Amino acid sequence: MTNISGKVALVTGASSGIGAATALKLAKAGARVGIAARRTDKLEALKSEIVSMGGEALMIAMDVVDAASVEAGVKKLADAFGSIDILVNNAGLMPLSDVDQFKTNEWHRMVDVNVKGLLNVTAAVLPQMIGQHSGHIFNMSSIAGRKVFKGLSVYCATKHAVAAFSDGLRMEIGQKHNIRVTCIQPGAVATELYDHITDARYRQQMDDLAKQMTFLQGSDIGDTIVFAAQAPAHVNVAELFVLPVEQGW
Ligand code: NDP
Repeated sequence: MTNISGKVALVTGASSGIGAATALKLAKAGARVGIAARRTDKLEALKSEIVSMGGEALMIAMDVVDAASVEAGVKKLADAFGSIDILVNNAGLMPLSDVDQFKTNEWHRMVDVNVKGLLNVTAAVLPQMIGQHSGHIFNMSSIAGRKVFKGLSVYCATKHAVAAFSDGLRMEIGQKHNIRVTCIQPGAVATELYDHITDARYRQQMDDLAKQMTFLQGSDIGDTIVFAAQAPAHVNVAELFVLPVEQGW
């Protein structure tokens, strides 16, 4: 088993949902966590929670779309904690709509955050991990990165991109630089993700879905991330497909 106590983790999208829960789980396992997002008030509350349970956290105001902000945030973490051992590339959004509604701003936003943002953070952290000849990168895909659903065409395209990138990244840097890469593909998780849906019909559909099954909690995903991070050093849990038992599709 890999002991992650004292290891340094960077979690993007740590201000709510899966990211916040994962930061807490990593901190409980002894990791020192850099918590990154745009809403610093939320990060402050999370930091207090981590500190109150005896953990260590560093707040990082970061917009993953802005490469300069990403670079500065990664440098701040490396300077403060000395290394970056675990990266959880989690920031993302899912405003559903049909393509023929032409909500092109939302399409571009999803590509910018879910794909280009993830690439920005990977590019900023990877040199540090290569220098250390160790590290573990978690990329947040989705069930929507394995299957396509109506109303999610662009979102599915972004999450398929994350899955494809993860597998390629694993092949390129795993053996060469001793860096593990895990692609996570959750089903329905109870978070703020659905709050950003501007299409009333799809918003209603997601609310109805929540009445049909017990969604996962962000902490369930945090647990699987800690599980993969704690796997023995020679083990790369390359994929995690985690669903509510009641999600029958
Ligand atoms: P939330 O909406 O609760 O969290 C999204 C996080 O992403 C927030 O912390 C937000 O922080 C951050 N974020 C969004 N845009 C940016 C940006 N430009 N720069 C930095 N951070 C940003 O939803 P979830 O926790 O559900 O989502 C986390 C990830 O999990 C996403 O990638 C999502 O696609 C994925 N996922 C979620 C599932 C679900 O059912 N909930 C299922 C499968 C995958 P802030 O606004 O403060 O910047």
